[in-house]
Amino acid sequence: MKFELPKLPYAYDALEPYIDSRTMELHHAKHHRAYVDKLNAAIEKHPAYDGAPAADEFKAGKPELRVLEEWLADPNSVPEDVRAAVRNNGGGHFNHSFFWKSMAPTGQGGRGEPEGRLSEAIEKSLGGFAKFKEDFSKAAAGVFGSGWAWLAVENGNLAIVTTSNQDSPIAKGQKPLLCLDVWEHAYYLKYQNRRPEYIDAWWNVVNWREAERNFEVA
Ligand code: MN
Repeated sequence: MKFELPKLPYAYDALEPYIDSRTMELHHAKHHRAYVDKLNAAIEKHPAYDGAPAADEFKAGKPELRVLEEWLADPNSVPEDVRAAVRNNGGGHFNHSFFWKSMAPTGQGGRGEPEGRLSEAIEKSLGGFAKFKEDFSKAAAGVFGSGWAWLAVENGNLAIVTTSNQDSPIAKGQKPLLCLDVWEHAYYLKYQNRRPEYIDAWWNVVNWREAERNFEVA
């Protein structure tokens, strides 16, 4: 029983020119794979669990990311000696799997803005799309060191949240709708230290259809 690197839902060059092909390839095939490999190495230490906590749920066909989500939401359910490894590498696997789906080639993820109920909620809770975009960009630019910016549902309301390293909002009971990776490995090849430029470019490839679906479920 093992976690697996998911296939990208588009080609490495599909987000050009906003996110370059080489960055996407390294990010997915090297960085994301390393999180998956290290997560598998950590959980292998628990033969009593037949490879991992929640192994029975895996065997019963529960999707691996649902199982992982439960571990991240309730770290005490994970054996102590691999808890940090699951938090970091499991978080890395979950966050990147979520991130790939938060993006789509231009024109395929919506018309550049959310629609329907998500749009109404952004209007109501976050002061409208223009203000949300500005606040989210500021939050993402302001993450100190490595981390993530998220649009999430918290206590029934939309919120912009940030996390450090590979922490995930689900550890705080928040339900993610959309995320942006602001680790340097996500943008350094093309944008070097110009994180705000990368964030501006990213808005062109946001998958609003996916965020709207996540909102309906949340
Ligand atoms: Mn990353």
